[in-house]
Amino acid sequence: MTPESAPESAPESTLDSTPPEPVLAPGAGPAAGPSAEGRRERGLPRERWQVELAEAVRDPGELCRLLGLDASVAAEARRAAAGFPLLVPRPFLERMAHGDPHDPLLRQVLPLGAELSSPPGWVADPLEEAAALAAPGLVKKYDGRALLLATGACAVHCRYCFRREFPYADHGASSAGTAAALAAIAADPSIREVILSGGDPLLLDDDRLADLLGRIVAIPTVSRIRIHTRLPVVLPSRVTRRLVDLLADLPTPAVVVIHANHPAELGPDQEAAVRALASSRAILLNQAVLLTGVNDSLPVLLGLSERLLAVGVLPYYLHLPDRVVGTAHFDVPEAKAVALVDSLRQKLSGYAVPRLVREVPGEASKVSIA
Ligand code: SF4
Repeated sequence: MTPESAPESAPESTLDSTPPEPVLAPGAGPAAGPSAEGRRERGLPRERWQVELAEAVRDPGELCRLLGLDASVAAEARRAAAGFPLLVPRPFLERMAHGDPHDPLLRQVLPLGAELSSPPGWVADPLEEAAALAAPGLVKKYDGRALLLATGACAVHCRYCFRREFPYADHGASSAGTAAALAAIAADPSIREVILSGGDPLLLDDDRLADLLGRIVAIPTVSRIRIHTRLPVVLPSRVTRRLVDLLADLPTPAVVVIHANHPAELGPDQEAAVRALASSRAILLNQAVLLTGVNDSLPVLLGLSERLLAVGVLPYYLHLPDRVVGTAHFDVPEAKAVALVDSLRQKLSGYAVPRLVREVPGEASKVSIA
């Protein structure tokens, strides 16, 4: 099973009548709009991000037509996408170069024939997360924190995803699972930080997110909430005024870890989304995955750190890819990765150099490589 796709249904109301809700301008103050429930009750259209999500590209032929690529690319993608479908939101697609089948953003989402064969050692659950479930919907790998699977849905399907085979439905990424996970967190005072992950937790609409955040904050032993999300990058309109309000109202600043792998992912809309998140006083970090053909070069990694700092995000982690089946073509040899980070260190201030890490099942924390 794979991360669940964004809903395919058309928006309830016509796009023409949808008042666009722009990403907050830098420095704009919070101003609550109607909630998702309120919008439904009042017959208002879905929010802009939900419309954009429904319009994400799912067909390899359409992807190739929009990017001016040869039909043979689509044919291969169709074969390779059988077990893990293509899903690309249009704001991410708009950041790709036209006519370039090797574009580094495209490479992250385009199914390739190479996915159909894996060498020994590439497995369905490389991090053994199924064995680390403390309760339905709750993964507890390390002391002091636990990962709540808020949803199995994503707005984009990253071909390198280490959870591309994860059976979310079997492991509690659901309302019932969330209730069980919250009960387990409340019963374990050693859990001081709750990490919302998935799937992408910001695919919950604002009402559901408000409810979830409220229930976590009500647990007295939890002192911090961390959110891992790719949405400010691939669907920046998700950063609504209400989302910023929700984060601003938390008793302690949220830690928001965005996920950008290449500097070209961070255009003006993404920058506005990140600046809006910063206005909630959230601590903003980035984690990237080091991927062959995407960002395995010094100029690209330099550019990524520079771009992240320019928009107010600290480069935090550079992950070696996890060995999940179908992703061996993204692997980067460890010696090359170490050399790249050593070179970064010679060019950048210390705070601008991400930590090179690998996750090893059974270890007490991520393993620092460089
Ligand atoms: S890497 Fe993150 S956003 Fe991408 S498919 Fe996996 S869980 Fe979803």
